[in-house]
Amino acid sequence: MLDTLATISAEPDQLTRLYLTPEHKRAADLVAEWMRRAGMSVRMDAVAGIHGVLSNGANSPRRLIVGSHIDTVIDAGRYDGALGIVAAILAVEEIRARAITLPFTLEVVAFGDEEGIRFPKTLIGSSTVAGATDESVLDLTDAAGETVRNALLRFGCDPAAVASEAYRRDDVVGYLEVHIEQGPLLESLDEPLGAVTAIAAQSRHRVRITGEAGHAGTVPMALRHDALAGAAEFIAMTEELAYKGERDQLVITTGEVSVKPGAVNVIPGEARLSLDVRAASDAARATAVETIRRRSRQIGSRRGLVIGIETVHEKPVAVCAPKLRAAISNAVGGLTGRKPPELMSGAGHDGLAMAHLTDIGMIFVRCRAGISHNPLEHVTKGDLGCSVEALVREIVEVAKQERT
Ligand SMILES: [Zn+2]
Repeated sequence: MLDTLATISAEPDQLTRLYLTPEHKRAADLVAEWMRRAGMSVRMDAVAGIHGVLSNGANSPRRLIVGSHIDTVIDAGRYDGALGIVAAILAVEEIRARAITLPFTLEVVAFGDEEGIRFPKTLIGSSTVAGATDESVLDLTDAAGETVRNALLRFGCDPAAVASEAYRRDDVVGYLEVHIEQGPLLESLDEPLGAVTAIAAQSRHRVRITGEAGHAGTVPMALRHDALAGAAEFIAMTEELAYKGERDQLVITTGEVSVKPGAVNVIPGEARLSLDVRAASDAARATAVETIRRRSRQIGSRRGLVIGIETVHEKPVAVCAPKLRAAISNAVGGLTGRKPPELMSGAGHDGLAMAHLTDIGMIFVRCRAGISHNPLEHVTKGDLGCSVEALVREIVEVAKQERT
């Protein structure tokens, strides 16, 4: 199933499946077909999420949601997102095959947009179900100028129904997701599966450092206000800070730098940097950003530079619910004979949005060398099997909790 999904792409020689594209449609149709074959009734929501529902025969509206995302990055691997959808469908097959009765409806969701590549917004699918978005999302445009609204209409969705897709808190038991780890920890511990403690607090910033351009040969060192040299000191300062914040799982990254005027014989007058800050708690992240601001003022005044830091994106930590973590621990423990390692997710996931609505729980699956967002992404067949069995057992554990 994962290999088949991986062939549904905008490009013949790489996997690229962006939100509301023809390849998204083909993948959604295929997933819907798999859901039907697994015994679920299927509907598409207003933002192209595919929902497969396995009723327990009772009339209670209570439902346990299990899902992941169907979109990919550009030149992606075949497991990120797709694994969570395939594992959920196979878990439903197993639950039916074993005649397990559940005290709730089981709902599998393939969210349309998690990665946020086509439109300048991530998690459109899960935010809509969680009631954590508003209709302003419909006016966002892609690089070609097409709005989300138009793209939804062409996909066969009803953008006017976005607000009505929000689920009621009382109707939802929780949200579970199986996802590749996208990091090297499980592999280093020789463990197939892990229980996620939280999805990291995250913020993104734009940093602009203004100095003074000048001739590379004639301006003496003492009289320079070199924006790029200041940027180098700034980056080294944030790296040092992150090393010191290891206990808070603080990670800080500058992944983009641009320099003006950008010539071999000109002292840089301006540098623009990206800054990505993540930590295990909102407080640790906020403290780190405060420290960066304070120390950048010191760098600026010493070097005669103006350093401006603008926050463009902020997501609070989403803590996984203790009872769902316990369910995962029992489920995986019953499978491997060991308590699974607990780890933080440094990457964002649909659970970030779903945490606005309900308890979230996530199982991470070991992936080779921690590589993701890359065609080299790899999970062994054995670990894939483990993840499905763990999900079945986790659903059974949640059913036990629901009954008591
Ligand atoms: Zn993902």
